[in-house]
Amino acid sequence: MTDEIKNVLREALGPKAVLESKERLEPFGSDGSDLFHIPELVVEVQTTAQVCKVMQLASRYRFPVTPRGLGTGRAGGAVPVRGGVVLSLAPMNRILAIEPDNMIAEVEAGVLTLDLKEAAKARGLFYPPDPASLDTCSIGGNAATNAGGPACLKYGTTRDYVLGLECVLPSGVSIRTGVKTRKGVVGYDLTRLIVGSEGTLAVITKMTLKLIAHPPSLMTLVAFYGELTTAMASIRKILMAGHVPCAMEFLDDRCLRLAGDLLPFKGIDRAGALLIIEVDGDPDMIAREIETIGVICQRGGALEVLMAPDAAKRAKLWEVRRQVSLRIEENAPFVIREDIAVPLGRITALCENLPEVEKAWNLAIYAFGHAGDGNVHILITAADTSGRQRAAEAVGAILKVVLGLGGTISGEHGIGLLKRPFLPLELGPENIRLQRDIKGLFDPQLILNPDKVFP
Ligand SMILES: Cc1cc2nc3c(=O)[nH]c(=O)nc-3n(C[C@H](O)[C@H](O)[C@H](O)COP(=O)(O)OP(=O)(O)OC[C@H]3O[C@@H](n4cnc5c(N)ncnc54)[C@H](O)[C@@H]3O)c2cc1C
Repeated sequence: MTDEIKNVLREALGPKAVLESKERLEPFGSDGSDLFHIPELVVEVQTTAQVCKVMQLASRYRFPVTPRGLGTGRAGGAVPVRGGVVLSLAPMNRILAIEPDNMIAEVEAGVLTLDLKEAAKARGLFYPPDPASLDTCSIGGNAATNAGGPACLKYGTTRDYVLGLECVLPSGVSIRTGVKTRKGVVGYDLTRLIVGSEGTLAVITKMTLKLIAHPPSLMTLVAFYGELTTAMASIRKILMAGHVPCAMEFLDDRCLRLAGDLLPFKGIDRAGALLIIEVDGDPDMIAREIETIGVICQRGGALEVLMAPDAAKRAKLWEVRRQVSLRIEENAPFVIREDIAVPLGRITALCENLPEVEKAWNLAIYAFGHAGDGNVHILITAADTSGRQRAAEAVGAILKVVLGLGGTISGEHGIGLLKRPFLPLELGPENIRLQRDIKGLFDPQLILNPDKVFP
C-alpha cells in the first residue's frame, strides 16, 4: 500500500478510524489459528457508509481487504495473508432492535454473540446458535463461518437463523438480501450463499435474525461407558426413540484421563467414554424425558448414569468439556485442531482409525465433540515441535479416512487458509470451478479476503 493510498484512507475515514503503528497492527495479524501476517493498515468502521468507502477505495486502488469480526476463527480466515487493510467490524456492535411481536432481531455485525443471546433472553426470546466461543466472537463472524455449537443438534446452525443481511460488495455498493419474514422465495437465496462464505464474497454489516421462544428450563445428565462403541450406540437409540436433546457431547478415553479429575462425580475410573446429554423445554416434560434417556443409556450398557441436579453442577460439567482443549494445549508444544464431521453412525469407525494414525506418525490424538451430529473435534499433538511435519502428514491421512466414511473436512471452522490445500479432496474440479466463478462474479478484482478458501 503506497503512502498515497494511506493518505486517501485517512482523509476518507478520519485519522481515528485508521490504525498504523506496529503495536496497534499486530493484534490484527492473527486469529484463533496459529497463523500470523501483519496488515499494513487496520480500519475500524462504525457505519455501513464507511465500509462502502473502504471497498470503493480498494476497488479503485486495488488493495486487499480482510474483513474481521473478533478474530476467534480457527481457520486463519481473518489473517491478512496479503497485507493490505484489515477491516474491523468490532465497533459496529449495536443491537438495533429486538422485536418480540415479529420474533426477530436486527443487529450490527460486530455484536458479541453472548450479548445478543442475553438481550433476546431478557425479552423471553432465544437465539440458539452457541459456539463455544460465544463470549468472544461476533455475530457477523458467526454468519461468515456459519458457526454452530452443541445446540445445533436440535436447533441448527447460524444459517438457520439468518433471515436477511445488509452487506457491502467488493465494488463498494451496499445491498440487502433476504427477508424479515419466516418464508420468502424471491430470487436466488443470496443470504444463504453469503452466510458461510468466510468473508470472500461480501462484508456483512447488519443482519436480521430469527428468534424463537426461550425454553423455560434445562436438564443435564452424564453417562459413563466402558468404551466409545456402546456410548455411540446409545446416541442412536436416543435419537431413534424420538428424543431431540439440545446437546449430546462426548469425550473419548484420552480426554477423560486428561480432564476427568475436574468432573463433579467420583468413581468412574473404568470409564472409556463419557456422554453429556441435555434437554430443554417445559420442566415437567423434560424431567420425564431425561429420565427416559437415562434408562436408555443404562440399558445400552452405561457403567453409570448421573443427573446434574443443579445449575452449579451443570456448569461444572460444561467446564470439563471446555477444559479439555485447554489441557491438551497445555500438555503439548503444539496442536493441530481438526473439526471434521462424519455421518452419525460412523463416529466409532472414525475413532477406531485414530490409534493406527497415532502409531504410524508417533503422535497423541484426542477426540471429543458433538456426538449427536457427528461433528468430532480431533486434536493432533506431538511430544515436541519436531513432530509438526509428522502431524501435518497425519492430518492428510485422517481427512482421507473422514471422506472415506462419507464425512466432510470441516463441520464448523471453515476452510480459511489452513484447510485450503485439502479442499480438492472433498470437492471435484467442476464444483471448485463453479465456486471460483461465483467468487469472480462478486469480486472480479479479487480484493476481498484474497487467497482464502480456494487453493
Ligand atoms: C475457544 C474457541 C472455541 C470455538 N468454538 C467454536 C464452536 O463451538 N463452533 C464454531 O462454529 N466455531 C468455534 N470457534 C471458531 C470461531 O469462534 C467461529 O468461527 C466464529 O464464528 C468466528 O467469529 P469472529 O467474530 O471471531 O470472526 P473472525 O475470526 O474475525 O473471522 C472469521 C471469518 O469470518 C470473516 N468475517 C468476520 N466478520 C465478517 C463480516 N462482518 N463480514 C464478512 N466476513 C466476516 C473473516 O474474514 C474470516 O474469514 C471457536 C474458536 C475458539 C477460539
